Amino acid sequence: MSINDNETLELILNQVKKRNYNETEFHQAVHEVLGSLGRVIAKNPHYADNGLIQRLCEPERQIIFRVPWVDDAGNVQINRGFRVQFNSALGPYKGGLRFHPSVNVGIIKFLGFEQTFKNALTGMPIGGGKGGSDFNPRGRSDGEVMRFCQSFMSELHRHIGEYTDVPAGDIGVGGREIGYMFGQYKRLTNRYEAGVITGKGLLYGGSRARTEATGYGAVYFVERMLATKKHSLEGKRVIVSGSGNVAIYTIQKMQALGAKVIACSDSNGFIVDDDGIDLDIVKEIKEKRRERISQYVKLKGGNTYYKEVESIWSVPCDIAMPSATQNELTGKDAEMLIKNGVIAVGEGANMPSTPEAVANFQKAGVLFAPGKAANAGGVATSALEMQQNASRDSWTFEETEKRLAEIMCTIHDLCAETADEYGIPGDYVAGANIAGFVRVASAMDALGII
Ligand code: NAP
Repeated sequence: MSINDNETLELILNQVKKRNYNETEFHQAVHEVLGSLGRVIAKNPHYADNGLIQRLCEPERQIIFRVPWVDDAGNVQINRGFRVQFNSALGPYKGGLRFHPSVNVGIIKFLGFEQTFKNALTGMPIGGGKGGSDFNPRGRSDGEVMRFCQSFMSELHRHIGEYTDVPAGDIGVGGREIGYMFGQYKRLTNRYEAGVITGKGLLYGGSRARTEATGYGAVYFVERMLATKKHSLEGKRVIVSGSGNVAIYTIQKMQALGAKVIACSDSNGFIVDDDGIDLDIVKEIKEKRRERISQYVKLKGGNTYYKEVESIWSVPCDIAMPSATQNELTGKDAEMLIKNGVIAVGEGANMPSTPEAVANFQKAGVLFAPGKAANAGGVATSALEMQQNASRDSWTFEETEKRLAEIMCTIHDLCAETADEYGIPGDYVAGANIAGFVRVASAMDALGII
C-alpha cells in the first residue's frame, strides 16, 4: 500500500476506533501520534508499506485474566488483570503495571502504545508493553496487598521473562508491590531472575536512582528545554500535580535546582504553600502514613491552604508539571495557566494534558514537553537496572544519575532536532512522535511482516 497524505492516516485512525470500540484513551493516544506522521510518510513513503502503521496500532498480544484473592475479613475478592504486549521490534516488552480502580483494557492499551514510542526515544533495546489491574490498593492492609500481588503474579509469571517482557511499577505499584510480585515469581519459577522486573529494592537486584528517575528525568528535560530560550529553573514558581512517586521526585529535583514548588495534589484536592512545599512532610504523609495530602495543612501550618473544588492549575505559576494521571489538565486549565503567565509545561504523567490543552499551549508559544519524552527517565533507568542485573553489577547513585541526565539531554535534543528537520521548530510533540516512530518503524521494516 502506498500512502502519502493525512487522509489515509485518518482512515487508519477510523479503523482503530472501530476495532477498539469505546476505548477512548487508546483512540486519543493513536490520534495524537498519527497526527504527527503525515510529514514523515510524505518524506519516506515506504514506512506506510506492508500495513506497517496498521500493525503498529495493533498490540502483538493482549492478556486478560482473573485475579482472585482473599481479603482480611475472609471474603473472596475478584479483580481483573491485564498485560498488553504492544510491540517487541526493539527489544523485550517493557512497561509498568498500574493498580487503580479506573484500569480497563483501553487505558492499558493507550499506555502500551505510548510506551512503545517512549522506549524507542531512549535509544535502549526495549519494546513497549503495559499492564495492571482494577484492584484499588488504597485502604488495603499489607497482607491484602501481598495476597493480591501473589495472585496477580500467579497468572502473569507465565507471560513474562527477562528476554520476553519486563514489567515495572506505575500508579499504585511501588517498591512494596514489586517486592511481593518478584517474590512470587521467584517462588513459582524457582529462578532468581532479577531481570524479569524492575523497580526492585536494592537488596534484591534494584538500581540506585530508579525510584527518583522519572521525576528527576522530567526536571532535566524541562531544564534543557528552558535553556533553549535562555531561561533557567532558578527562582521559578512551579506546580506539580499528584503526590506519588513521580511528583515527589519532581519536587525534590526542582528544589535542588533552585525552583520553588508551591503546590501539589492527590485525587481529592490540592495544597498550596507559598513558602515552598516541605517535601519531608509530603513524604511522611504519602510514603509512610499512606494518607491524604490534605494532612499537609495540619502538619505544616503557616502560609498553607487546601482546596477540593477548584483545579490546581488555577494557582499562578511559571512552570506546570502534571504528574498524576491522564487527562488531568483540560483546555480550560491550560487557558488559566496561560493567562497566569506559565512559560513551560513538562508532563511527568502519561498523557495528562487533553488535546485541547496541548493545542492551547502550543498556540500560546508555551514550551511544552510531552510525557513520552519528558517522563522517559523512569523506563530508561529501568533499562539501566536490567543492564546491572545482566552483568551482576551495581552502580553508585552518582553514576546512575549521571547516565540518566545524559539520556534525558539526548532525548530532548533528538526531539528538538527532529522537529527542526521536519520544519516545525519547537514542536516537541511532533518531534517525539516522529523520532520514536522512525526507530520502531525502521526495526519493524527490517524484521518483515510479523
Ligand atoms: P503513584 O505513585 O501511584 O502516584 C499517583 C499520584 O497521582 C497520587 O498522588 C494520586 O493520588 C494521583 N492521582 C491518581 N489518579 C488521580 C486522579 N484521577 N486525579 C488526581 N490525582 C490522581 O503513581 P506514579 O508512579 O507517580 O505515576 C504518576 C503518573 O506518572 C502516571 O501517569 C504514570 O503512568 C506516569 N509515569 C510513572 C512512571 C514511574 O516510574 N512511576 C514513569 C513514567 C510515567 P491518590 O493517592 O489520591 O490516588
